[in-house]
Amino acid sequence: MLDKIYPWQTGDYDYLLKLKQRLPHALLIDGAKGLGGINIANAFIQSLLCENPDLDGSYCEICSSCCLYSINSHPDYYCLNLEEDEKSITISSVRKMTEFLAVSTHLGHHKVVLVEDANLLNINSSNALLKILEEPPSYALFILLSDNVGKLLPTIVSRCQKYKLSVPDTNVAKAYLTDKNIANSEFWLTYNNNCPLFNVEITEEQFDLLIKVLSKPSVDKIYSFTNSIENKNNAIIFEFIIKWLSDLISYKLTGILKYFLNYEDTFIDLAAKENIIKTFYLQDKLNFLLEWASHSLNHKLQMENILFQYQQVFVK
Ligand SMILES: [Zn+2]
Repeated sequence: MLDKIYPWQTGDYDYLLKLKQRLPHALLIDGAKGLGGINIANAFIQSLLCENPDLDGSYCEICSSCCLYSINSHPDYYCLNLEEDEKSITISSVRKMTEFLAVSTHLGHHKVVLVEDANLLNINSSNALLKILEEPPSYALFILLSDNVGKLLPTIVSRCQKYKLSVPDTNVAKAYLTDKNIANSEFWLTYNNNCPLFNVEITEEQFDLLIKVLSKPSVDKIYSFTNSIENKNNAIIFEFIIKWLSDLISYKLTGILKYFLNYEDTFIDLAAKENIIKTFYLQDKLNFLLEWASHSLNHKLQMENILFQYQQVFVK
């Protein structure tokens, strides 16, 4: 029955099912990447459209609505998402969705629109969506998913009832990862803020080289690392370094590590030599570059440049 959701989502699912008694017109589900927001949204939507739900409100899996939903052909369901070759959800996509809502329901009481990644709305499509949220047809229900609510138009957020997905207990997350065959899975779980659905996008060799550079930067180590990444998009590595720098700052100021718990000895050494102003500066710079990482003309050169600046953090 509950094969659509993950073990850590049963509480969230129960909460959403209870909402069925007093449905808002718009629900904003706020959840970090790696929690499975789309899974719970799908289970909830299927429950809303189901013709013969269980006593707890969950979907039955066998009615015609459930069958149509499972094959992505339910006439009362619309997913507003990126169209091919687009980088954001456009106003024309929102208009198509409006046409879907213009006709009343086919099977049940609701027409459901899922905005799969609300952060992909641009300013124009946000405003177009806002207009519909302000005066929705009585049968319309909007579900917006976002991993960064702060980036949404505040007027959209204020039109929605908000629900924040729960982050799993460490033991539940570890249990889920046990049969996934991921090297260093405990490290990556902490690194991903306990959100268990992550991909490890650097090889073990690159990981080791990068930790060596960051632990004791030298010209040789910088070159052997940048040679190992070839000329790939730097975003993943930038994110890694940003988290490392944030631990450097946190360790220097509070003695607490958030991501690199197993490297405390290294952080003791580094914090003693670290110039914290330079660390803040480099972290800011990386956060800025992260947005543009895929546009760099020469990724290797850009990475070398960053690592040499990192080396300077420890120079008196
Ligand atoms: Zn059903």
